Amino acid sequence: MQTKLFSIPSPEGHEAEIAQAARLLREGQLVGLPTETVYGLGADALNATAVAAIYRAKGRPSDNPLIIHVVNDIAWLDRYCRDIPPLAYELAETFWPGPLTMILKRNPIVPDRTTGGLDTVGIRCPDHPVTQAIIRAVDRPIAAPSANTSGRPSCTTAAQVLEDVGGKIAGVVDGGPCQVGVESTILDLTVTPPRLLRPGGMPLEALEEVCGEIQIDPAVQRQMGATERPRAPGMKYRHYAPKAPVTVYEGTPEATAAAIARAAGPGTGVICFEEYRDRFPRSVTASLGPVGDKREQARRVFSALRSFDRTNVKEILAQCPDRRGLGLAVGNRLKKAAGFHTVPVGSGQTRVIGITGPTGAGKTTALRELERMGARVLNCDEIYHRLLAENATLRREITARFGPVFDGETLDRKKLGGMVWQDPKALRDLNGICHKYILSRLGEEIADARDEGLVGVAIDAAALFESGGELLCDTTVAIVAPEEERVRRIMKREGITREYALARVHAQRPDEWFSDHCAHTLVNDSTQEAFRTKAQELFWELLFE
Ligand code: AMP
Ligand code: MG
Repeated sequence: MQTKLFSIPSPEGHEAEIAQAARLLREGQLVGLPTETVYGLGADALNATAVAAIYRAKGRPSDNPLIIHVVNDIAWLDRYCRDIPPLAYELAETFWPGPLTMILKRNPIVPDRTTGGLDTVGIRCPDHPVTQAIIRAVDRPIAAPSANTSGRPSCTTAAQVLEDVGGKIAGVVDGGPCQVGVESTILDLTVTPPRLLRPGGMPLEALEEVCGEIQIDPAVQRQMGATERPRAPGMKYRHYAPKAPVTVYEGTPEATAAAIARAAGPGTGVICFEEYRDRFPRSVTASLGPVGDKREQARRVFSALRSFDRTNVKEILAQCPDRRGLGLAVGNRLKKAAGFHTVPVGSGQTRVIGITGPTGAGKTTALRELERMGARVLNCDEIYHRLLAENATLRREITARFGPVFDGETLDRKKLGGMVWQDPKALRDLNGICHKYILSRLGEEIADARDEGLVGVAIDAAALFESGGELLCDTTVAIVAPEEERVRRIMKREGITREYALARVHAQRPDEWFSDHCAHTLVNDSTQEAFRTKAQELFWELLFE
């Protein structure tokens, strides 16, 4: 079919074209629409046949739900959603029209086709006067996913819409380039606390001012595991991908520019901040805009990704903004385009971070975050047991002090444990022997990590200070949690009684002791995800800044 192009820079003086575009939509046809975020591929959200055509034109999987777009009128919210919490009204009043999509319970009037069969619906009011005028003229909500072919970077100009779906849809309204440039922020309000499903044009920090705590869905920052069920169907699909594979470099702009310059050759495309453009003379570059201007980065990110499709680059290497403000959305789009293939770049030094704290506080969770950021975890318990098996000198030294506690290479742990358990002097002697072996092994492992150029090493040690391990560290982090929480976690993890768990907790040093000794403290006093987010923020600083 011939796609009709309407050029409508503003509603005033273009009443006839607006009426024409609205007529196409009322007839059940598809029309590309400008919004402040990205171009949408619109259809009458209440017409299941029209909505089905969206999926065909985009090649989008049909279980991936659509967002419905309404005018800025609370009556529309009430018409298409039910069980609306007061917070949703407050958010609509504060942020609409604007790049915020709320997930709410749907009213049955919204067809299954539109919601991908879900009992919830994503709803927002776009901040573009032309599209608002068109929706008002249609007098129905407009279902609109991004107007790109499924899997490709979103469209931020009408020309890009024609490139992707021209000939497959009835019309495109050219309302100028998108002012925000990344899709809306999606917030699920059917759960408490609200959950961020997709970072977007409305910064998380702005939403937190109104909502208080917001949980960040893990899929925002990393690839979903094969066995994990995504919270929103769209999360499992490949997204935003240009033709060449993308790798995202994470770290300070200076460090990532240097690492990309080292890796880039003539066949490389580079997405970089404006200031670093001349660092890649042999490569094709696309600028994200200045380091400090995240609004500009959001406006440019999709065009930057698309720009390489007109070249013959074999790979694309990208600098990535930090996660603050719109940086979370820009980084998320780049990482999704890369299938989360990221390279952490340290400051050039391998940072050594000592992690300590009582059992049950969340050390393991924190360490997993460090690993995901490219650091290597050295677990002192594991090292101790490896040394016992490998190191005859250590075994001899222990035997000299404690008698025959080994059967060949195997330690009789009960026997040795019995000797040191209630005897502080004996325990001190044992530690005195073991710690020096562990420390020397840690030193070797850190040297290896430095040779390999790793961003960091995390030393996981309950006795970080008593052993002197702290002296190997550039910085130290205490992981602590309220006693009640720890008791609950230990009971669950180890299947032991409350009494026993309490005894374990009381046998350890108090939280304050750890906080006083460490340079930083992470308190695990809310949800696992809130804790992960806190940990990511701190570790990012410690590893990369
Ligand atoms: P797009 O249409 O490309 O902007 O993507 C819209 C995204 O919104 C989908 O991929 C879903 O992840 C999300 N979405 C829409 N409706 C819902 C819903 N009812 N529940 C959860 N996520 C939704
Ligand atoms: Mg999309």
